[in-house]
Amino acid sequence: MKKIVLVDMDGPLVDFESGFLASWRKTFPSEFFLPVEQRTTRYVNQEYPARLNEKIESVKSAEGFFVGLPPLEAGINAVREMGALGFRVFVCTTAIYNSKTCLVEKKYWLEKYLGPDFAKNAIFTKDKTVIKGQYLIDDALEITGEVTPEWEHVLYDQPFNRTITDRPRLKIDWSNWKEVITS
Ligand SMILES: [Mg+2]
Repeated sequence: MKKIVLVDMDGPLVDFESGFLASWRKTFPSEFFLPVEQRTTRYVNQEYPARLNEKIESVKSAEGFFVGLPPLEAGINAVREMGALGFRVFVCTTAIYNSKTCLVEKKYWLEKYLGPDFAKNAIFTKDKTVIKGQYLIDDALEITGEVTPEWEHVLYDQPFNRTITDRPRLKIDWSNWKEVITS
């Protein structure tokens, strides 16, 4: 049986932070902003003044935002290579619940960069623990839910998750994926 690799979208495949910043600057050019390399937390609103929360939400829920986010080429290439080497890769992601566009635009995004099969097989859930697989590549610090997961968490490196040292870490450029995802 092929090994199943689950891959999170925002972080490992989608450059959410650069995409957000570009839309933010375009929509609110005179507002406060933080360059991506100065970000140290997982969510934008943790580092932007609280008064900007509504504006941040309006950018994230704007039509065309998710489908317009830039791809991480290294992740796209690695996922394609995994498939060629005999792994079965499923994208496993969470869609923003109160966004009318997020879920459908994420599917369009997958179709655009990885093809229709990835879009059709994408798994959308808030609870990734119930999904089966050998590995989950994800940049989230702790992934909890209904059950103890079967998969091993491979932590996709980000400035905000470097305090976690108890699990395999995939480099931002994916260069060590063959060391952490083994057949
Ligand atoms: Mg993520």
